[in-house]
Amino acid sequence: MIQNNKIAIIGAGVSGMSIAQMLKDTNEVVVFEREDRPGGMVKCDRVNGHLFHRTGGHVFNTKRQDVLDWFWKRFNCEEEFTKADRNSAVSMPDGRIVAYPIENHAYQFSDEMMKTFIGDLISMAANKSKEPTNFEEFLRGRFGETLYREYFQPYNEKIWRRSLTDVPLSWLAGKLPMPTVDEIIYNNFKHVEEKQFVHSSFYYPKNGGSQFIADRLSEGLDIRYNSDIYSMVKKENGWSICGVAFDKVIFCGNVKELPKIVEGVDLSAYKDGIDTLEAHGTTTVLCEIDDNPYSWIYMPSRAHQAHRIICTGNFAGSNRNNGVMSATIEFTDEISKEDIIDNLSRVPYSPKYLAHNYAPYTYPIQASGTREFISTIKSATESQGLYLLGRFAEWEYYNMDVAMGAAFDLSARL
Ligand SMILES: Cc1cc2nc3c(=O)[nH]c(=O)nc-3n(C[C@H](O)[C@H](O)[C@H](O)COP(=O)(O)OP(=O)(O)OC[C@H]3O[C@@H](n4cnc5c(N)ncnc54)[C@H](O)[C@@H]3O)c2cc1C
Repeated sequence: MIQNNKIAIIGAGVSGMSIAQMLKDTNEVVVFEREDRPGGMVKCDRVNGHLFHRTGGHVFNTKRQDVLDWFWKRFNCEEEFTKADRNSAVSMPDGRIVAYPIENHAYQFSDEMMKTFIGDLISMAANKSKEPTNFEEFLRGRFGETLYREYFQPYNEKIWRRSLTDVPLSWLAGKLPMPTVDEIIYNNFKHVEEKQFVHSSFYYPKNGGSQFIADRLSEGLDIRYNSDIYSMVKKENGWSICGVAFDKVIFCGNVKELPKIVEGVDLSAYKDGIDTLEAHGTTTVLCEIDDNPYSWIYMPSRAHQAHRIICTGNFAGSNRNNGVMSATIEFTDEISKEDIIDNLSRVPYSPKYLAHNYAPYTYPIQASGTREFISTIKSATESQGLYLLGRFAEWEYYNMDVAMGAAFDLSARL
């Protein structure tokens, strides 16, 4: 096999391991990882017999055929995964459960809410709303006042912890459904359910959750664990990391750390911009909860700070301890154990606390110039043989499959 280049990859998360797998047959590839096991954000533990997704609750699917083909070359779909339909719901503050997406299930609203929602639809159809300039205007214009007030505003304010007028529209592209009034009315008359939408199903490992995916992706790679890379030195013909020479480096860590780590390439022009990049963290809480049929439960209630229950116990029987249902419950940013337990007393399905994990970087916030700014950094570093890849290296709202797709695109360029 021709060994084209010696490539260092920083980070054994999904991005780093995916590109390492794509490059390893034609290059000499070494992956450096600061933790003692692979996975980054998709790592899972076992706690009291329950599978604990330390961040969120990861399921897999993709819109990209090349990613799907690549993925199923590494995994046995039938033997190792289950395929499930999404079955999400919104738990309203009055205790009512409304199927997701909420705008298609007016028949499950209270009478009063249904009437005001019908009024909204009529006025939205009559007055085409003006082009929105921020997230709040988008939600009000697209879904009407009632759903904005009862669901979209309180739910999104819990996640983003800011006024929705401060969330720029550039953040939306490709992330949110954009139904027209006609579609909302049609879906309501027709009782169109979530599982009838394209990409409303997902794959989930029968055992081990997303840690199973990470462990498999790590197979056959030269990964140096417990290697926190705090210095990468640019040399005449490449890079030196831990005293070892490499032709190229692919950085899959957090771009905020880059100016500190890189020596020999002047990144000072980007430092202020990098410092202003914003992100949220997530506190993920593992709980035993009451049995229910849902995959995700969204919670707009202002009575507590949690925004979502991910019913991981419904994704695979092996996730539960002796059949007892478990789930992860998400809070934006850091919240103490005491506050978690206090909040859980007001969350539906009687959650019982088992464990929690706080990850400081989970949701990158894309301001209007973020993408352009990151691409100027990339142009500067790529000309020196240093490439950025991954959710926080590129400050992109990547899911696992999109991270794999980005790895595909970069490996093709390399
Ligand atoms: C709450 C939540 C729920 C999600 N749910 C889903 C889902 O259901 N489905 C889905 O497809 N995606 C989901 N995602 C997205 C998914 O987690 C990411 O797409 C994916 O984990 C990104 O992987 P990454 O490799 O880019 O980053 P990371 O996972 O952050 O990996 C970076 C790795 O680099 C290492 N590292 C960093 N700096 C250094 C250094 N200097 N030296 C050595 N090592 C370093 C880190 O330790 C880490 O292992 C979710 C994300 C969140 C936050």
